[in-house]
Amino acid sequence: MKINCLSCGHNINLEDSTYGDYEGAIKCYACGAILEVKLIEGCIKSVKLHSLAQTGGNAPAGKSRTRE
Ligand SMILES: [Zn+2]
Repeated sequence: MKINCLSCGHNINLEDSTYGDYEGAIKCYACGAILEVKLIEGCIKSVKLHSLAQTGGNAPAGKSRTRE
């Protein structure tokens, strides 16, 4: 499956066997941006730009906003 990098537009190729069901961060190897993706049964449910190319922030969980 392929995901378009929201930062540079590069096609990121993901192995279906690995990313069939996946929720988390993916790094674009072209520009280094971090994409937050949600894949369910090989379908892309959501793609968000997590951060632009930068290093040092590796906190996938724990930043959930709960309101009520
Ligand atoms: Zn990119």
